[in-house]
Amino acid sequence: MVALPIRNPRTGAIEGTFAGADATLVRERANQLRQAQPAFAGLAMGDRAALLLLWAEALRKRHAALLAALCADTGRHRVEELEIQAAIGGIERWARSGTTPEPQSGRSRALPSVRYVCERVPYALTGVISPWNFPLLLSLIDAVPALLAGSAVLIKPSEVTPRFVEPLRASIRDVPALAAVLDVMPGDGNTGAAVVDVADIVCFTGSVATGRKVARAAAERLVPVFLELGGKDPLIVLPDSDLERTTDAALRASVQATGQACQSIERVYVHDSQHDAFVDLLVAKAQALALNTPDIRQGHLGPIIFDRQAEVIAAQLADAIARGACVRTGGQVETHEGGRWLRPTVLTDVTHQMTIMREETFGPIIPVMRYRSVDEAVALANDSEFGLSAAVIGPDLDLALAVASRIDVGAVSINDAGLTSLVHDAEKQSFKHSGLGGSRMGPAGLDRFFRKKAILIQEGPALSMAMLAESP
Ligand code: NAD
Repeated sequence: MVALPIRNPRTGAIEGTFAGADATLVRERANQLRQAQPAFAGLAMGDRAALLLLWAEALRKRHAALLAALCADTGRHRVEELEIQAAIGGIERWARSGTTPEPQSGRSRALPSVRYVCERVPYALTGVISPWNFPLLLSLIDAVPALLAGSAVLIKPSEVTPRFVEPLRASIRDVPALAAVLDVMPGDGNTGAAVVDVADIVCFTGSVATGRKVARAAAERLVPVFLELGGKDPLIVLPDSDLERTTDAALRASVQATGQACQSIERVYVHDSQHDAFVDLLVAKAQALALNTPDIRQGHLGPIIFDRQAEVIAAQLADAIARGACVRTGGQVETHEGGRWLRPTVLTDVTHQMTIMREETFGPIIPVMRYRSVDEAVALANDSEFGLSAAVIGPDLDLALAVASRIDVGAVSINDAGLTSLVHDAEKQSFKHSGLGGSRMGPAGLDRFFRKKAILIQEGPALSMAMLAESP
């Protein structure tokens, strides 16, 4: 066990420590979960779904404790109410997602005397490693389908937001049959690395830099890894757009949760003919938003949760301003009562030489760039190492769809932005450096946790060496 600090993002104060699990503890717990897993996998999927529904109920009963812990972890209130609602809704959606599909079966085309049936075998132990921006939701998003598949799950949440772990663990204990195959072990990167060392399949959500380390460690062990990493999502505003609608969507999708969301809009491209009017309206709407300090129950934007992210944001702003960007509103990381905040910030005169247009910001900053042709807008949107998601808004749906199909990302919202955070039915993968592996959304999200095993039944004579003799 190692003692790790608990920081209050609203004050910057270190309010205590928590015990991070070391590799020995992770291994011991992993062995216990593994031992319980075969019986759990032996249940019908409907019985596992029923346990998940009991867990959803247990989370609901512990709503007050969870909300208090998450508010303390993140310094925001409304977003946390929505996060808990989304996490419980996700459990219920998976639990009610239907029955086990009929196993694939048939007769071999190459060897008609052989018929086959395919079994789906869950991985014994899934390791889930999650980030701090939506601590509960992103700890559960892969864990729930893994459990439904019959896998045991060990979750390692972020050390930046550790307080929600206790009420979460308590909710798991409320459902003993689930507690036998599911646990949450807090800790830092060392605990995360220990989880990668024991899991049979790894689901990681976090930064590209850590994702690479996790992928390397998983490759060494030859276990599959699913990576959901960073983004630099573009929004293309097509000519003749309704600017009320477009600025509403751009603002919300850029600054919600203080921009601390992977699918935040972080670059906006507006046609020359509407650029100035778009910026004026966006600035007016941005200025109408307020920080949630000193009262967590007032305003729209919480603090920057992770203090080091405040440095990244300030450095990107300084780089942009030094290279000629114009700050139209916001633009200063502010300190209030020891916490770090940034008001919605609109930048113009930005270029792709600036880090603010190339690297993930994870803050409420909206850089707006003008374009003169749709081809130029598409080229700018694609000029990125990231390929998480994007948005296209415009009056001509056919044009919007054509543009969407040319953007090299795993999901595109049309006539809105950032819809992937709410719509989990459609399968999507993360392109380029934004991730690796199959879709966590839609039916594929469950399928990831099964290995396929073919049972081949010979109904004719066994094949003999006679077929391999050189002469008849
Ligand atoms: P991070 O990479 O710093 O940490 C993520 C997790 O990895 C933490 O739990 C951390 O303790 C753990 N970790 C650190 N080193 C490790 C190691 N060597 N082995 C195993 N685990 C290790 O990311 P963060 O700062 O917590 O989260 C922000 C990032 O997450 C952003 O880049 C954001 O875009 C990304 N994110 C992506 C999605 C998505 O779905 N694509 C969703 C949310 C956040």
